Amino acid sequence: MLEIRNPATAELIQRVAQDDAASVTAKAAAARAAQPAWAALPLQQRIDCIQRFRQGIVSELDTLASTLTREMGKPISQSRNELNGLLGRIDFFVEQVAASVADEDVGDDGSTRERISHQPLGVVANISAWNYPYFVGCNVIVPALLTGNAVLHKPSEHATLSGLHIARLLHAAGVPADVFVPLVGAGDTGRALLAQRIDALFFTGSHATGVRIAEAMATRLVKLQLELGGKDPSYVRADADPKVAAESLADGAMYNTGQSCCSVERIYVHRDLHDGFVEHFLATVQGMKVGDPMDTATYIGAITRAEQLDVLDAQVADAKAKGATLLTGGHRLGGPGNHYAPTVFSNVNHDMLLMREESFGPVIGIQKVSGDDEALALMNDNRYGLTAGVYSRDEAASRRLLAQVDAGSVYWNCCDRVSPRLPWSGHGDSGVGLTLSRYGIQTFTRPKAWHLRKP
Ligand code: NAD
Repeated sequence: MLEIRNPATAELIQRVAQDDAASVTAKAAAARAAQPAWAALPLQQRIDCIQRFRQGIVSELDTLASTLTREMGKPISQSRNELNGLLGRIDFFVEQVAASVADEDVGDDGSTRERISHQPLGVVANISAWNYPYFVGCNVIVPALLTGNAVLHKPSEHATLSGLHIARLLHAAGVPADVFVPLVGAGDTGRALLAQRIDALFFTGSHATGVRIAEAMATRLVKLQLELGGKDPSYVRADADPKVAAESLADGAMYNTGQSCCSVERIYVHRDLHDGFVEHFLATVQGMKVGDPMDTATYIGAITRAEQLDVLDAQVADAKAKGATLLTGGHRLGGPGNHYAPTVFSNVNHDMLLMREESFGPVIGIQKVSGDDEALALMNDNRYGLTAGVYSRDEAASRRLLAQVDAGSVYWNCCDRVSPRLPWSGHGDSGVGLTLSRYGIQTFTRPKAWHLRKP
């Protein structure tokens, strides 16, 4: 049995039966058998199922939000935001799927016509993270189902109940039980899934696990997508409004208790407005309510995985030892449960773990820079490349900088933002492949080339 514990209180919520290798194999075989009939349905029937699923989310939003908060410690208002945000993503996929996978006539020389069709991949495995289980789960699940695939979904062991809610609502909406199949468990269940006959593997999680999965899949020659971590930088230029930038970046660093793949993790500020920026940043962070995630006023909730507290402690100790200035926080908060004080450092540099390795918690460093060239060099001095931002009144100068940053998404005067209309992808150690946008629908299909010559 898998024990589900509330990370804010350490209380046992529930025990859930885990899948073992035999059950994973049986479920994968059933999904393979069920997929062709699902793919053969008219697209509108699959759309109808997804729209009923959306209705299920709306009807049960409060229950789903409170389960999410209890099992991973996200503040309840942010759990509701995630579920409300999911509705817009579903709408985007539903509106765009027909055009995204329509046959394309691309050539005709009078005797031979050329056409592209989009076939489903087949059986898609999805190994998912806990930090936004509805967003990152449904970025794969919804377009994969709409395009005619069967999905074997392994939610994170820290978001199991939310994964089971997704399954229950999809089944109630008419998706056959063998077409959408949840798998319960941790790394062992994930490993068992890798051993099955699957047509594609979509993974969202840490870089370390992503590399292990890529190694395990190396000889399998199936489509592999990896959405991994980040160390996302943002630069405040000399012409920015320091208060506006500070409020926006404090939110980007601390939202979801700093546990977003696109959390702001490094801040560079022009020396001319550095001190004023730091003052506003600190005031904003100190105004955030920390504590019980079920309280609607709470902004900073629990650290989901207890092990992450050690990572945060190590980054804080390393920064202090190397001369950083601790402005607030820097320590665990009393238990039970996993809580960390929002932590802000200035006087940081790239010798420090805090400015190099993913923190994944409410901990941030602010570094003073001399201008655009230094900021650009520092932003690109990292192995990750998920998002990056510039705060400035000058759009042309910002776009020149952002064009040179190695990141899948770039932001002008905003941060920590994901849109269903734009592709979500990483450079470098942030991964390979993408979700969202029309490309993130087509990625669940195999383009087939048709050469049609008249007799
Ligand atoms: P994780 O790597 O610990 O776990 C991810 C999933 O992999 C879980 O379901 C886990 O059970 C499974 N798993 C673990 N070991 C496995 C193995 N050997 N074989 C198969 N499966 C295995 O990551 P996490 O803690 O769930 O998520 C946090 C990380 O995810 C952060 O680094 C964050 O930045 C990243 N993330 C990235 C994105 C993105 O879009 N790029 C989105 C959300 C989270």
